[in-house]
Amino acid sequence: MKITFLGTGTSQGIPVIGLTNPICLSTDFKDKRLRSSILIKKKNTNILIDCGPDFRYQMLRSKNNNIDAILLTHEHNDHISGLDDIYPINKKKIYIYGLPRTLEILKKRFFYFFSEEKKFNVQLINIETYITFSISNIEIMPLLIMHGKLPILGYRINNIAYITDANFIPNETINKLKGLEILILNSLRKKPKHKSHFILSESLKLIEILKPKKTYLTHISHLLGFHAIVEQELPNNIYLAYDCLILNL
Ligand SMILES: [Zn+2]
Repeated sequence: MKITFLGTGTSQGIPVIGLTNPICLSTDFKDKRLRSSILIKKKNTNILIDCGPDFRYQMLRSKNNNIDAILLTHEHNDHISGLDDIYPINKKKIYIYGLPRTLEILKKRFFYFFSEEKKFNVQLINIETYITFSISNIEIMPLLIMHGKLPILGYRINNIAYITDANFIPNETINKLKGLEILILNSLRKKPKHKSHFILSESLKLIEILKPKKTYLTHISHLLGFHAIVEQELPNNIYLAYDCLILNL
């Protein structure tokens, strides 16, 4: 299985338009973060998690042009607004998985996907937390995650878990996250605390509890600091993800 980090930034990305802090001005390519998304490839199956506003460029940059399924974590703009750009690779049907609430919002926002002319060839599939489903023999468990007041989804695929935009993880989900090889987890900034995203100290506390073999932090804002410096400060086996990072598992 191969995981490509297509983007590792928070909703505004890094650099943020108009900001002149040292992180936004950094020339280190690891400090440049498009909106968060990963691509999971197993044999000929390509599964995208989230499809934000940078999707088009992320596909071009990573030289990928094939998506079989899209798993959505939630309906916020930075996780869905790239869906229009599936068009050139949509001769083959693309299956879009999400909570019923998320898919209802898609139906309204992207109503023309489903219009008479029906240019888009997509199928929406409702999923429920903790009910496992498969895509080409890849088993996927949707996990309940809290994003402020909004219940959203994380995903466990074998011994890998992808959790973004969390600020609280219910106990039932904690129990499903034991024995992980790789945890991908959001971490917004060092401080101050945020009402709907973990900050670094909170992410580290959760990692202490879950004890995955390795953790990659994502959905990062410029307030976390320089990639190169924060990496050195992190405990063993905890890393900052960066755009274009590939994990071969
Ligand atoms: Zn987000």
